[in-house]
Amino acid sequence: MAHSSIRILILGGTAEARLLAACLEDDARYLPLTSLAGVTARPSKIAGEVRSGGFGGVEGLRGFISQESIALIVDAAHPFAAQISAYAAKAGAQAGVRVLRLERPPWEQQSGDDWINVADIDEAARAMPEGARVLLTIGRQEVAPFFEREDIHVMARMIEPPQVHVPAHAQILLARPPFTLEQECALMKEQRITVLVTKNSGGDATFAKIGAALSLGLPVIMIARPEKPPLDTAPGVEDMLKLIEKHVA
Ligand code: NAP
Repeated sequence: MAHSSIRILILGGTAEARLLAACLEDDARYLPLTSLAGVTARPSKIAGEVRSGGFGGVEGLRGFISQESIALIVDAAHPFAAQISAYAAKAGAQAGVRVLRLERPPWEQQSGDDWINVADIDEAARAMPEGARVLLTIGRQEVAPFFEREDIHVMARMIEPPQVHVPAHAQILLARPPFTLEQECALMKEQRITVLVTKNSGGDATFAKIGAALSLGLPVIMIARPEKPPLDTAPGVEDMLKLIEKHVA
């Protein structure tokens, strides 16, 4: 390990972050250190150094940056993880360390797609029509407002079980992406789903549900991404590697 290697903090939790860590670990110029929120019980293996758990807000992250001699930060957190992105932009600016963002593009509505575009979780919970049979695919953290709607049936799909009470009109389906178009169509038909609810996460691993809704003529309640501070952004790992080269040159 060359003493002069550049220490790069990757805010992880996504497939792109994992791929970036592997690419940087293979390059002697860089020393990647991936940070995970610590909410996933069995995270996939990540190349290079890994740490887990919150930093303790902007202050904590700023302290970590200086303690660990971080020279560059890549915010590759999930598009819906707004807090850590805001904290990273602030802590980086305060510490004089550049922050770049690796973020996959959102899904775009295509002709024929029946999307109900909503700004956030609460608007999505209100947008579900009475009597609907909903396939809810927003993860496990924010299911409560959907469970409060007693006039609908909710099938909530997630990787790990929720930490809230599951009412009688809701059902949990534990499953890990990716899913195929055939699997998604079969699930929606079998469960007589009438509406799909999803965050606009983008990417291929969970896109099949959008195609399945289109082919079955089902509406999709599409939750828009939260705003994040503007940063130099790359849509994929290859572009991020070029951006990193440019910034460390
Ligand atoms: P968040 O709301 O942006 O972050 C909440 C707090 O968790 C942060 O303030 C930070 O704590 C800690 N944290 C988050 N990411 C971290 C990281 N990479 N390293 C160290 N600490 C981290 O993010 P979230 O709670 O993870 O997720 C928010 C939304 O994103 C949810 O809707 C969730 O379903 C979705 N989502 C997130 C991920 C993910 O990987 N984060 C993956 C899939 C979906 P401190 O303030 O103490 O530093």
